[in-house]
Amino acid sequence: MQSYHLDDTIVALATPPGVGAIGVVRLSGPKAFAIANAIFRGKDLSAQPSHTIHYGTIQGADGQLLDEVLVSLFRAPKSYTGEDVVEISCHGSEYILQQVIQLCIAQGARLAKPGEFTLRAFLNGKMDLSQAEAVADLIASDTESAHRLALQQMRGGFSREIENLRRRLIDFASLIELELDFSEEDVEFADRSRLRELVERIRRVILNLLQSFQLGNAIRRGVSTVIAGRPNAGKSTLLNALLQEERAIVSDIPGTTRDTVEEVLNIRGIPFRLIDTAGIRDAQDQIEAVGVERTLEKIRQSALLLYVFDLTALEPDEVRADLQKLKRQSLHLIVLGNKMDKAAPETLERFRPFESSPEWDFLFLSAAHHQNTEALRELLYRAVVGGQINLESPIVANARHYEALKKALESLDDVLRGLESGLSSDLVALDIRRALQYLGEITGEVTTDDLLENIFSRFC
Ligand code: GDP
Repeated sequence: MQSYHLDDTIVALATPPGVGAIGVVRLSGPKAFAIANAIFRGKDLSAQPSHTIHYGTIQGADGQLLDEVLVSLFRAPKSYTGEDVVEISCHGSEYILQQVIQLCIAQGARLAKPGEFTLRAFLNGKMDLSQAEAVADLIASDTESAHRLALQQMRGGFSREIENLRRRLIDFASLIELELDFSEEDVEFADRSRLRELVERIRRVILNLLQSFQLGNAIRRGVSTVIAGRPNAGKSTLLNALLQEERAIVSDIPGTTRDTVEEVLNIRGIPFRLIDTAGIRDAQDQIEAVGVERTLEKIRQSALLLYVFDLTALEPDEVRADLQKLKRQSLHLIVLGNKMDKAAPETLERFRPFESSPEWDFLFLSAAHHQNTEALRELLYRAVVGGQINLESPIVANARHYEALKKALESLDDVLRGLESGLSSDLVALDIRRALQYLGEITGEVTTDDLLENIFSRFC
C-alpha cells in the first residue's frame, strides 16, 4: 500500500481505450480543480458549483486548439472517489486523450494506478469492500452474465444482507457482554433460545451464500462441464459439433483422445468450459490409465457432466453401471444417447425409460449430424439458470468471501455448541465476536493492508 499516495491528484482515462465518440479523462484529488483550470479555456472552474457542466476548449502544449470539451465538476465528498473530481469529456481520439492526460500531468497530476479511483472510493467510505471488488469484476468481466452478476453485487445486495446479519448479532453480543458485568447476580439479558434462533437463521443464510459461491465462480470462469463416456462414444465429435470447430482430435481408434481438451462454449452469455476426456473403461495400458484417472479427477471438480454413449454399442444396463460409477452429489448429469441416426427404432425404445429418470436429463442425439444439439444447448443453459441455481440471489463471487463465510459458519457452529452445552457467557461471547469478525471481513469493516493490496492489484 506504500506505493499509493492519497494526497496526490491522479488522472486517467475513464472510458475504455480505443476509438469512441467520446473519451473521458478523470482527475481526482485536492488539486483536481486547479489542474483542470490551468488547461481549460472558458469559465473559471474553481468558482463554479459542484455537479455542473461547462463548455470550453483545451489548448495543446504548442498553444494550438486541441479540442472542444465539456467539463463536469464534482466537489468532495459528493463524487465517485469522495474527493474533488473533474471529468473532461473530449472527442474520442487516442491522440487528443493522451495529450489531455499529458497536460494534466504537466500541471502536477500523477497517472492513476489500475483501480486507484475505486481504491480511493473505498478508502473514503464511498463503497464497501465487496462493492469495490465487484467493480474489479465488472472491469474484468467479458460476458453478459458476468457483467450482470458484478452489477448486482455492486448494488450492494450482498453486503446489505451480511450487514444486516452482523447488526443483529452485535445486539446479542452486547447483551451477553452486559451480563458479564453483572456476573454475580446471575442474570440473563440475552434470551438464549432467541439467540439460538438467530444464529440458526444466520447459518442458513450463510449456507445459501456458500452454495451460490459455486455459481458465482462458475459464471466468471465458465461452468466446468466434463464430457465423458467410453472410447468411440462420440465425445470429440460432440465437442466439435458444439463448438463448430475442429480442435479436438476425432478418431476411429478407441482411446486416442488421451489428454483433456478444454474449450469455452458461450450459451446466451453463460460460458461453459467443456472438458473432453479420455474414455472411461478399465485401464489397458498406462497412458489410458492416466486418462481415466484424469476423467474422474475432472468430474470431481465439475458442476456438470455430459455422459455420452453409443446407442448402438451399449445396453441400458451397461449405461446404468457407468452412470453409477460417475454420479455424485451436486453434479448435474446430462445423459446423451449418441448416434441416433444409425440406431434401430427398437434400440431407441429400449432407452426410452432414461427420459423419465429424476436423476438426470436425457437426450437422444447425433453429434455427427447435429441432431438435437440445439436441444442440448437449451439443457445446458437451463441447468445453470433454472431451478437449482438462482441468479437473483446475492452471490458470493470471490474466494476471499468464501473463506470468510466458511469461517463465520464455523464460529456460529461453535456458538450453537456452546449454547447447547451451557458454556459460560464469556466464552459464547468470544465465539460471537469471532463470527462478527469474519462477517466484517466481507463488508470491509476489518481489513489489513495486505488484504487491500491483494484486492486492488486485480484491477486492470
Ligand atoms: P470419442 O472417442 O468418444 O471421442 O469418439 P469420436 O468423437 O472420436 O467418435 C468416434 C466415431 O464415431 C467417429 O468415427 C465418429 O465419426 C463417429 N460418430 C460420432 N458421433 C456420431 C453420430 O452421431 N452418428 C454416427 N453415425 N457416427 C458418429
